[in-house]
Amino acid sequence: MSEESEGMDKEDRGDAGNYINTADAEAVARVVKNWLGNPISRSFLRLATGDTMEGPRLELLLRKYLGDNVNFHGIRDALGFRVVKFAIDKGADSFGVTKEQMGEALREPIFRRALVNILEGIAKFGVQRPQTTVAPFLVVWNFTHICNLRCKHCYENSDGTFLPDELTTEEAKKAIDMFEKAGVVAIAFSGGEPLLRKDFFEVARYAADKNFYVTVASNGTLITPEVARKIKEAGVQYIEISFDGFEKEHDRLRGVPGAWKKACEGIKNCVAAGLDTCAATTVTRYNLKIIPKMVEFVEKELGANRMIMFNFVPTRRGKEIANADISPDEREELLKFLYSKLTDKTCRLQTLSTAPQYARIAQEFGTGPAVATHFTNKAAAEALQGKAAALGDFIGGCGAGRLYCGMEPNGDIFPCVFIPIKIGNIREQNIKQIWEKSPELRIIREREKFEGCGTCKYVYSCGGCRARSYGYFGKLDGPDPGCINNRKYWEELQKEKTHKVQE
Ligand code: SF4
Ligand code: SF4
Repeated sequence: MSEESEGMDKEDRGDAGNYINTADAEAVARVVKNWLGNPISRSFLRLATGDTMEGPRLELLLRKYLGDNVNFHGIRDALGFRVVKFAIDKGADSFGVTKEQMGEALREPIFRRALVNILEGIAKFGVQRPQTTVAPFLVVWNFTHICNLRCKHCYENSDGTFLPDELTTEEAKKAIDMFEKAGVVAIAFSGGEPLLRKDFFEVARYAADKNFYVTVASNGTLITPEVARKIKEAGVQYIEISFDGFEKEHDRLRGVPGAWKKACEGIKNCVAAGLDTCAATTVTRYNLKIIPKMVEFVEKELGANRMIMFNFVPTRRGKEIANADISPDEREELLKFLYSKLTDKTCRLQTLSTAPQYARIAQEFGTGPAVATHFTNKAAAEALQGKAAALGDFIGGCGAGRLYCGMEPNGDIFPCVFIPIKIGNIREQNIKQIWEKSPELRIIREREKFEGCGTCKYVYSCGGCRARSYGYFGKLDGPDPGCINNRKYWEELQKEKTHKVQE
């Protein structure tokens, strides 16, 4: 490992959207290639995995490796420990790091939990292209239905009311306990507007105390300097604030005059409080042309570290403005623009996108960095310079039902917050059970069978947005019509259109 990437690695371990992490991700990919890609190694790995009364066995064995006082409860633990020790010592060699450096990385609970999650996924599902983790790496939790805005594209159909069956504070904490046991690494509180629930800070703190990587998605309107400080104190590491244009575009889409000014203040307050802050834009025809100006404004005036462009998904209230979606060619130009900014050393802002085609763009640039769509950042991208092809198939573009899932205010689990299909409820089932048994997730994980995307050479690294396939065609395994390689599906949709784009 070079000095540069070693430094990056250290810095990134405490960093925000780094769920799939820089040199760590590269290391994991090498592990997969070198010594987990065969049945014998996998059966050894199985010895070290599975659950114990105290949590995932692998986590306990890693702590034992680090010298913690951990008791073994049988021969399997003892054998498993030998496997882990051999694997780490050998792994340190393959990664080009010393055992001390490896130990230092493993001391970070988030890194440890992430590694356990991936390796358990390999033990459970085998080495895959792209990989499915043993439990969701990330749960995006629509913490409440209530919102003080009326956004035209809201995927939660939020309004001014709480739902009667939202999880109580105690149930929310139990859900976090369940996620901890399952090996979930990151929790993103979203909504509705999560800050409208009085117990938000208490529940976020609870998750942070359990070493989750805690993030928040907010409309920003309630974030005064005092609230920003409280968010930081609650252990939140990363915050995304909606920013859909300048005043005219933003307020029109968000349905409430004055929302833009407050969102800008919210972003500035989060930056001032020392939060890793991202401006989040849903790209539609309403704002496409002003994206370059918005990027400049966010970088220079608001001071956020990142800007992420959300793919528009015609779901729930968003269906009403489906004709505001951008064309495949417009998306292509947008993604190229974002990638050029991401690789531009003079641009301080990290310009990201949730469009899975962003991973294809990274590969097409050839020598550029890998991107993990929802889960990357600039430091990660720089550390992964030239690795787009090697890592793309492992990271895999769309993470729905494979690395991540959504949770509704009442505990219903969705494959993605943009796919309103209930695949279980955590009041009735364990998250791991849902993750393993859901027939819908099985469909999402069989990429070769996707219409359109299935025969594309980027099917593993991208896979198309499953929510857009579902939103447009009612199918989880249909085409994502937003890609230039699926242009014919987009053109068919245009012919069917009966209404004009609202101006
Ligand atoms: S056709 Fe599908 S898999 Fe291929 S790049 Fe486009 S969206 Fe991705
Ligand atoms: S379906 Fe996949 S690409 Fe689409 S929004 Fe969900 S996670 Fe992102």
